[in-house]
Order: sequence, then structure tokens, then C-alpha cells
Amino acid sequence: MNADPAAQRRLLDLAAVDAELTRAAHRRRSLPELAELEEVTKALQAGRDSLVAAETMASDLDRDIRKLEAEIDQVRAREDRDRGLLDSGSISSGKQLEDLQHELATLRRRQTVLEDDLLEVMERREVTDADLEQRRVKLADIEQRHLEATRRRDEALTELESTELQGNQERTILVGGLPAELVTLYERIRARNGSGAALLRGGRCGACRLELDRTAIGRLRDASPDEVVRCEECGVVLVRTPESGL
Ligand SMILES: [Zn+2]
Repeated sequence: MNADPAAQRRLLDLAAVDAELTRAAHRRRSLPELAELEEVTKALQAGRDSLVAAETMASDLDRDIRKLEAEIDQVRAREDRDRGLLDSGSISSGKQLEDLQHELATLRRRQTVLEDDLLEVMERREVTDADLEQRRVKLADIEQRHLEATRRRDEALTELESTELQGNQERTILVGGLPAELVTLYERIRARNGSGAALLRGGRCGACRLELDRTAIGRLRDASPDEVVRCEECGVVLVRTPESGL
């Protein structure tokens, strides 16, 4: 294949833009900002779960407190009724009086047990309050870190997008100015090799770094400047300039 030496040299610009785009694509896959955000997102979920668990615990205890208070009220009402009956003097039967006093004693014992239980649950509820506050503070801190990590990820992506946009624009202009046949060859080599063209510098291929031997150098020296020559090792288009050492 033949191509204008100036067009061949412009392949180097295209190769440089493609290398930049490849670096951007690689960076997009391995952004540390993505890994960081993923980690903080996990911590955020754990923090939210932990707060929900504490809130559930608190509401369970609140329910227990209401239940115990209602039971205590019932026992008190019953005691009041029994005491009223006793005080009214309306009960004359000794057996009935004895039963009533026995029930009152039972009710008082029951009330003591319930009040002890209530005290214990209220103490646990207080501990849960302190715990809730701690978890809220911790979650607020994680939420802040999550916001910052998201902002860093967005900034990194915006920067990448701008690099890619600029690279693709440059690429379109460069490709538009090159012979279609040369571009097709370049693309075919690039698809297989990762790189489509390289500068021959000081007798060395700029893509695979192979140092050409005397015979190969001689062949390149004799080749017409229009001839598109390739590296024997990696296959890229070798672009010849005054730096090539021919
Ligand atoms: Zn090579």
C-alpha cells in the first residue's frame, strides 16, 4: 500500500489520540473513586440497618411500657374497688371478708412485680435512647462521607467524559483528513494489536520496541517514502521521520 508520507505521519497523531482514549477507558473501569463510593455505600446501608434495628428495639420497649402501665392501672382499679368494698362495711360474711383480704394481698404482690418489671423496661429504654443517639450521629457522619464520595466520583467521571469527548472529536477530524484505505489498515491492525501505527525511532519500533536489524533498516532505507511499511514483529505501520535513524 502507498500513502502520502504526510498522511503517514498524521497516523502518529491518530495513534496518540487512540492511546489517550484507551487510557481513559481503562481509567473508567478502575476508578478508585468508584471503589471508594462502593465501600461507603455499604457502610451507609449498614448504618441505616443498625439505626432501624435500634428504633425497632425502642418501639418494642415503648409497647412493653404501655402494656405494663395498663396492667398496673387495672390492678390498682381492682384494689380500689376491693378496698372500697371493705371500707363500706357492707360485707358481713367472715368468709367473704377473708377472701377479699386475700385478693387484696395478691393484688399488692402483683402490683409490686409489675412495677419492678416496668422499672427494668424503662431503664432498658433509656439505654436504647443513648444507643439511638450514637447510631444517629454515626449515620450522619457516614451520610456526609457518602455525599463527598459521590461528588468525587462525579468529578472524576466528568473529567473522563471531557477527555473522551475531546479525544473523539480530534479523532473524527484526523480520520476525516486521512485516506480511507490507510485508516482501514490502521483500524485492522489496531483491533488485533491494540496499536495501529508507531514511529520508527533510532531503528526501533515505537510500539513493540524491537530493534530492527541491519537488513531490515536497509530495506526501509530503500523503500519509497510513499510505501506503507510495517513492523515485522508486531505488525504496526512504521512511520518514518528524520528521527528514524535510517
Ligand atoms: Zn513493532
